[in-house]
Amino acid sequence: MALQKRRQEVVSAGVGTLLPVFVEEASGAIIKDADGNQLIDMGSGIGVVTIGHTNEGVVEAVSNQVAKLTHTLFTVAPYEPYVRAAELVCAHAPGAHKKKAAFFNSGAEAVENAVKIARKATGRTEIAVFDHSYHGRTNLTMAMNFKMHPYGTGFGPLAGSVHHAPMSYPFRDAEGMTGEEAASRAITYLEKRVGASQIAALFIEPIQGEGGFVVPAPGFLRTLQEWTRANGIVLVADEVQSGMARTGKWFASEWEEGFEPDLITVAKGIAGGLPLSGVVGRAEIMDAAHAGGLGGTFGGSPVAVAAGVAVMEQYESGDWLARAIQIGELIEGRLAAMKNNYPLIGDVRGKGAMQAIELVEPGTKNPNPQATEALMKHCHQNGVLILNAGTYNNVIRFLPPLAISDELLHDALDVVATGLAKLS
Ligand SMILES: *Cc1c(COP(=O)(O)O)cnc(C)c1O
Repeated sequence: MALQKRRQEVVSAGVGTLLPVFVEEASGAIIKDADGNQLIDMGSGIGVVTIGHTNEGVVEAVSNQVAKLTHTLFTVAPYEPYVRAAELVCAHAPGAHKKKAAFFNSGAEAVENAVKIARKATGRTEIAVFDHSYHGRTNLTMAMNFKMHPYGTGFGPLAGSVHHAPMSYPFRDAEGMTGEEAASRAITYLEKRVGASQIAALFIEPIQGEGGFVVPAPGFLRTLQEWTRANGIVLVADEVQSGMARTGKWFASEWEEGFEPDLITVAKGIAGGLPLSGVVGRAEIMDAAHAGGLGGTFGGSPVAVAAGVAVMEQYESGDWLARAIQIGELIEGRLAAMKNNYPLIGDVRGKGAMQAIELVEPGTKNPNPQATEALMKHCHQNGVLILNAGTYNNVIRFLPPLAISDELLHDALDVVATGLAKLS
């Protein structure tokens, strides 16, 4: 392909790609490539176009904004849409406490800023994270990821003062281990290895993204919260992938009763494809950073926040959240039926429109990355864009745009089922 050749000439080999196609345009849950082929999008660009490709409200908001004002830099001369976006994200983050927000460009940048804020607020240095987590590709966030390869290999030295604790992973933990037990395993580890009084922040994805849509056992998040509150540790929920209507709630944190993280990082699904991320949380913690300490040239640009406002105002109706629940039920029902037929599937899990299957060698829990790769390939060859995930590269994740129809969802899942039949 001519385009492929041009790309190889000038684009760094370090920027890999999953699919050998060039996308021309997209709408709702359909992607069209340069050759006129159509793909059903079951990945939303990794949970970014949750509201659908080229959502009308987003297109209109971005078009209007881009014609009016594209840049002043909020820290030089502010503008209203940034404040409106902050009002919306503060209003919908869990907890009745007073909240404030700040905006950046990427998920990794939001995580880095949450680290800065938590360190300043506590006067402590150490950061705790969980096994199987993913937080980004910058120097600090590379150190916070669980997987060294491909994210960190050869890119060191990585940042220090980051400590990894065992996660609650119901499919792979001892049978019957409760969330409370898994939390106390992590807490004991961190107390021995780091010391609670040293820890500025504990970062947790309430449902892990790249780690394979791992949903911790009930009680895990709440027990961690009791411990962080008792020890003056800032609890940060990294909802870059799980937040913004993906799971049928504004934030996946809301699925655990009583769980109200001190800070939340958001990005991916917040602005319908425009680069926008943010940190939202307790006002007194957010205000601990001194003026001039947070910011960045493009962070919360007028066009990105205008898109964020357009997305969040649509979420406020509740219709998108309800749709995420319906989509989740449809996908989960189909996947559960496939699990009965195909012992390649070891586990079906997720919340709302964030569902996954973990593939194993039949009759065992041994990861099956080969079958996962083959299933992905089958789907891509049959017009369905699906994404993998997981520490062992053996998870297929389903996170379609919420604009997808039931019919398209069934079409996509039929292709998955055919692929499983072929592999079994
Ligand atoms: C994608 C992701 C990030 C990094 O976001 P970028 O915008 O790629 O920097 C951080 N945390 C989680 C949970 C993510 O899924």
